[in-house]
Amino acid sequence: MKLYNTLSRTKETFVPVEAGKVKIYVCGPTVYNFIHIGNARPMIVFDTVRRYFIYKGYDVNFVSNFTDIDDKIIQEAIAEGVTAEEISKRYIKECLIDMASMNVLPSTTTPLATEEICGMVEMIQTLINKSFAYQKNGTVYFRARKFEDYGKLSGKNLDDLQTGGRSLLVSGVDEKEDALDFVLWKPKKEGEPAWESPWSAGRPGWHIECSAMSKKYLGEEIDIHAGGEDLVFPHHENEIAQSEAANGKRFAKYWIHNAFLNIDNRKMSKSEGNFFTVREVAAKYDLQVLRFFMLCAHYRSPLNFSEALMKAAKAGLDRIITAVDNVKFLKDNTKVIALTDKEKELLCKIDGFVVEFEQAMDDDFNTADAVTAIFELAKFSNKHATGGSSVAFLNMLQETFVKLSDVLGLIVDKKADMLAKDIELLIEARQDARKNKDFAKADEIRDELLSQGIVLEDTREGVKWKKA
Ligand code: AMP
Ligand code: ZN
Repeated sequence: MKLYNTLSRTKETFVPVEAGKVKIYVCGPTVYNFIHIGNARPMIVFDTVRRYFIYKGYDVNFVSNFTDIDDKIIQEAIAEGVTAEEISKRYIKECLIDMASMNVLPSTTTPLATEEICGMVEMIQTLINKSFAYQKNGTVYFRARKFEDYGKLSGKNLDDLQTGGRSLLVSGVDEKEDALDFVLWKPKKEGEPAWESPWSAGRPGWHIECSAMSKKYLGEEIDIHAGGEDLVFPHHENEIAQSEAANGKRFAKYWIHNAFLNIDNRKMSKSEGNFFTVREVAAKYDLQVLRFFMLCAHYRSPLNFSEALMKAAKAGLDRIITAVDNVKFLKDNTKVIALTDKEKELLCKIDGFVVEFEQAMDDDFNTADAVTAIFELAKFSNKHATGGSSVAFLNMLQETFVKLSDVLGLIVDKKADMLAKDIELLIEARQDARKNKDFAKADEIRDELLSQGIVLEDTREGVKWKKA
């Protein structure tokens, strides 16, 4: 299995730090609004990465945080006349609803920055003790140049960075020793939420939050650290510096970054104002379609969002769901149980689609090619699943569809499953009506099911149903 490591700028073979286990940390959103579909891209992409590791038999520990204290949250709170906590709690709740609708698995742990201040203060203190950090008037800075590898992730040249940052020093905006130094702790301003620390009542810098939360929940060395490509510098560069300086160990073995989701080929972002929220898209489409749309592209390729592409994604997903529905319908109606000789010959073809799918995913999570393998399976299924197919063959097809789609987080037999559950409930209600000698109601339920194409059969073993 290969993945592109931003750190080495090459595709590397994945070798876990600890055999059989994968520890992943994904930087979560800052919660001051509904999430937009750009934020949804890393959620969907790294959830799929996680699902593929699970599929491969790894024990995955997946941590993704919420940044629930930040200037933007405070600004929104002031604008609405409520507390910062009210804003962050509200949008965490909404974000979790969106994530569930996109079929993103809940993280093993979802830490909130504001509940982890203790670990951050401890880490900052360690950095001060090791002379990697210093305090000036209640603000603590990281001494970037002291960390020899500073710049290794982003490949930035320190002298270029120095020139960029000099104007701040000249203008006296802050009191850093060096323009490259960044904030670990800042004192509070009037009216801002604050926590006690040895340096001032204040709050942590954004970068130290992830270093501390990753350490607490995953340990000092992890396998994969992930996020959108805009986080490479400064956020991830600074996380590496802090964690490796404090712990004296390599922080993350692999760094993976998704490319941006654009609108009209321009970066979609809250600050530019050119974004759609996930909620807005959900009003028009099942969010499975959004998920499918995202996975039809490679995660390291920029992706342009448009109505036409969403329609195409919907049609593509429908093609797969229809193929699965067809298999289920045939299975409910066939009288052939065991594999026929012809079907036995076809089995290796089904295995071939699984191999194609895995090869695509093994190649740096190429979900676009993995989707193609599922399309091929659908084409094959539409051709070979017929009225004369056996239950065994149809089962094999259905299970393969579900197994592969599940890796991508796509639910392709939901309709039929929900239907089956609804039918069972109605049958139960009909049995109750009969027990109570309410035959009119029992007949009414039977007719209702019939109108939906479901035929009931009263047998000695109980009531059975089939599609008409
Ligand atoms: P933020 O709330 O801005 O910290 O972003 C949360 C996550 O969404 C980060 O991993 C960002 O890199 C990612 N992100 C933000 N905008 C986009 C976008 N337009 N396309 C892809 N990822 C994005
Ligand atoms: Zn982070």
